[in-house]
Amino acid sequence: MTETTPRAVSARTAAALRVEDAWLAHNYAPLPVVISAGDGAWLTDVDGNRYLDGLAAYSAVNFGHGNPRLVEAARRQLERVTLTSRAFMNDRLGPFAERLAALAGAELVLPMNTGAEAVETAIKAARAWGYRVKGVPADRATIVVARGNFHGRTTTIVSFSDDPVARDDFGPFTPGFRSVDYGDAAALDAAMDETVVAVLIEPIQGEAGVVIPPPGYLQAVRAACDRFGALFIADEIQSGLGRTGATFETARVGVRPDLMTLGKALGGGIVPVSAVVGPAAVLGVLRPGEHGSTFGGNALAAAVGTEVVAILEEGTFQARAAAAEPVLRAALDGLVGHGALGYRVAGLWAGIDIDPALGTGRDICLRMMERGVLMKDTHGSTVRFAPPLVVTDDEIGFAIEQLGDALRTRN
Ligand SMILES: *Cc1c(COP(=O)(O)O)cnc(C)c1O
Repeated sequence: MTETTPRAVSARTAAALRVEDAWLAHNYAPLPVVISAGDGAWLTDVDGNRYLDGLAAYSAVNFGHGNPRLVEAARRQLERVTLTSRAFMNDRLGPFAERLAALAGAELVLPMNTGAEAVETAIKAARAWGYRVKGVPADRATIVVARGNFHGRTTTIVSFSDDPVARDDFGPFTPGFRSVDYGDAAALDAAMDETVVAVLIEPIQGEAGVVIPPPGYLQAVRAACDRFGALFIADEIQSGLGRTGATFETARVGVRPDLMTLGKALGGGIVPVSAVVGPAAVLGVLRPGEHGSTFGGNALAAAVGTEVVAILEEGTFQARAAAAEPVLRAALDGLVGHGALGYRVAGLWAGIDIDPALGTGRDICLRMMERGVLMKDTHGSTVRFAPPLVVTDDEIGFAIEQLGDALRTRN
């Protein structure tokens, strides 16, 4: 750790930092805060300091830390059976798939664990569908993606990233992807041809800084897919499951993708649970043995996932995110011209562009940490705010007030 932080780091935190530095590969650069407990929208560190969680583990903790319904569902299942592998059936997975399919308006569910695995699964399903149903010549399938995307970290997925940090030194890359500018419907049209089996898009680009496409863009993606007989794959891993004020961002704007990838909040912040959902005409092309995962669809994941679906069926978290949006906007309006250049908001999800003269996004996050709010920067001078959806209006006000303070002062 080369950076200096204003607050003297406690002996406990310093010890944890030394252990992290010594024993963990340096593929992350965490803020120097060591969390030992969480409750609702709040986290507590090893010294007893409390922080408002402004990241919610990249929206995996939408329903709050220690959500009692989810903890109870996990606890009950822990005492019964956790893992059978899919060589045998378990009594949790079928009901989970049925409920999730109904929630998503889909016919089939293919369960995996992490988001990247769901994206890989969608890619494989789209390619197999392309060869077996659409009739694309062998090994010619193309998937169109958007610049600025984030779909995960596997070698195939970084093959179509345009972030040099994600790609450099990880080649050779998987062919079969074509990139277009995000939000540009004409560019997408121009990239389509008969080899295109799918367009893979985030309805809102989260890691890019909560980049919201222009109105009508997702409709244009749908239309382009229809015109060229391609599948529309919406990666709803971060935009879905309540964050934007709806169960699915595509549904919020009135568009039906063919496949959706889901993850993050699907596991309730307890276990990794991901899935691809879609029609039998697409997911039904996969045959036994062609794809799978030892842990995908495990009984513990299915029990937690079923409770997540039950929570989403009630709609209260979606309604809360929608109701919080104007509160968040009003608070952020006060920062524009006072350290913030601008912001983008969708539900309870904000990307805030900081005046680079005031520091990097990370500098701001360090100052926020001192002020009791944990946030995460993305790309240079953008910070994001995506607290658990249990956050109150007052807590939103507190967080943005601290951000204003962090922008006014240099430490
Ligand atoms: C986080 C994320 C992923 C990858 O999920 P992991 O669980 O980290 O593999 C994929 N797509 C989007 C849109 C994401 O935000």
